[in-house]
Formats: sequence, structure tokens, C-alpha cells
Amino acid sequence: MQVFYTIEELKKSILLLRAEGKTLGFVPTMGALHEGHMSLIYKAKQENHAVLCSIFVNPTQFNDKKDLEKYPRTIQADMELLISAHCDMLFAPFVEEMYNKEEKIQFDFGYLDKSMEANHRPGHFNGVATIVKKFLDIIEPDAAYFGQKDFQQLLIVKHLVKDLQLNVKIVDCPTLREKDGLAMSSRNVLLSVEERTQASFIYQTLSKARYLSGERSIKELQNWAGHEFEKHPLMQLEYFEIIDAQTLLPIEKVSDSKEVVACIAVKLGNVRLIDNIILFP
Ligand code: AMP
Repeated sequence: MQVFYTIEELKKSILLLRAEGKTLGFVPTMGALHEGHMSLIYKAKQENHAVLCSIFVNPTQFNDKKDLEKYPRTIQADMELLISAHCDMLFAPFVEEMYNKEEKIQFDFGYLDKSMEANHRPGHFNGVATIVKKFLDIIEPDAAYFGQKDFQQLLIVKHLVKDLQLNVKIVDCPTLREKDGLAMSSRNVLLSVEERTQASFIYQTLSKARYLSGERSIKELQNWAGHEFEKHPLMQLEYFEIIDAQTLLPIEKVSDSKEVVACIAVKLGNVRLIDNIILFP
């Protein structure tokens, strides 16, 4: 695997690859890689001649400085995983390489960034869009791979690409889970043993919500989930939203939309976890 730290070196190598007529799949990550990330690499590998993974803990998408500081960084182990998956290239720039001046691009995603993560992490999606746009401009991949685990982010990236008419296919990839249902996440390593045991409660609640969604209204489901988390000794519910999966607009009944998703964010000790489940179809 070729490893690049500068844009210049990376671009040179991409030019060579393009000269050979090869297609390129791009998987952006913040590192601390797990099987969920690797599923994106495998998919990109199946669909392209070469795969480029980026590892960059993007400071502009963190509204909480402490969260940025404690974000897990495991570059050596990450490289080993990427090599074992036959990833072709890794781009792991320093912050100065990606942000060389005081710049601030302001994006407008309409309703997509007026709810859920946007309310709890002000500026988060503007930071995500800034770095995704930079990477796509530098790399110009044929396709970029994003996880449904970050459901709102996936819609925002698709909106960004459509709005700016960027020439790249965005491929969504299903959420990989641990055996007990917990969505794989780089943040899971920050959980204590006790917290980790309890964490499966998030997916259990989502699954139960899907089961109950045929017979209860959305308000009833939200109240029910609220009570479930109030009773839980370690978890605090930040939001539990049942919304249209394409627009993220609120709906009254599950039958009001073609596709309905339930999105959740929970604080477990000091660790913030998000997950989602498609309720319909
Ligand atoms: P992150 O490193 O957390 O920014 O994630 C990088 C990419 O991996 C994003 O597109 C995520 O949605 C995706 N991802 C993270 N966790 C999972 C998972 N458990 N299953 C599938 N994709 C994931």
C-alpha cells in the first residue's frame, strides 16, 4: 500500500493511475478502523481498479474540543488492517495540509441540517461538507463510499454532490454491527466494560421500535422510547426521531412516507453514540 501525507505526492500517484486507465474508489474515514470501515473498503475494491482510503480526524467537524482530543487514533493498527484488505493507497494528511489558511466555506443544506446531529453538534455538517468537498476536489474519484450508520451525513454528502454537480458516484453501505447489535464505531473503544455491555440497548430499542411501528403512532413510539431511556441507569437520550428517510422531514404516520427511518443519539457515560434503523419498508 502506498502511503501519502501531502496532496502533491498523492496527486502525482493518482495521475499515474489514471494514465493507466484505472478507476478509483475513495473511502474517507477518521481512522481507528474497524470492520464497518473495512466493509466500505471491500465494496470499493469490488467496484474499482484501485482504492484510496483517507484517515483524517477533521477538526472543523468537532464542535466540542474535548471530543476532538479524546478521539481514538490508532494509525499503526489502521495501516495493518488496510494492508490486509489490499487497500491500494492511504492518504493521511496533517491538519496543516488540509487547512492552510483561515477559510470558512458556508454551506446550506436546507432542512437536512436543521435537525438531529445539526442541533446537537452546531457547525458539524458544515465541517463535514468542507472536508468532503476538499477531498473530492483533490482526488476526483469515480465513486466515494459512505456508511448508512451516519444517516444524516450520507444525505448531506449526496446533497452536496448534487448541488455542486460534482462528478462522483456516492455509494451507500449498510451498517455493520457487533454480535449483540451495537453498531460498530470508533467510539466504542472509549466505553468502559460495563458501558459496553449496556450499549446493545440502543439497537434493541431501535429493533423494538420497528416491531411496534405497525401498531403505534410516531408520537407514541417516541414517548415509549423516551420512557425506556429514562428508566436506563447509564444512558441519556439526546434524540429519537422518526422521519422521512429522503428529506428528514417530520411525519405523523409511518404510512405517510415511502421510506421511514428512526434515528437515535445517546450519551453513554461520556461517549456519544448514534444509530438508526429503517422502519419502513
Ligand atoms: P468515521 O471514521 O466514523 O468518520 O467513518 C468513516 C465512514 O465509515 C463513514 O462513511 C461511516 O458512515 C462509515 N462507518 C462507520 N461505522 C460504520 C459501520 N458500523 N458500518 C458501516 N459503515 C460505517
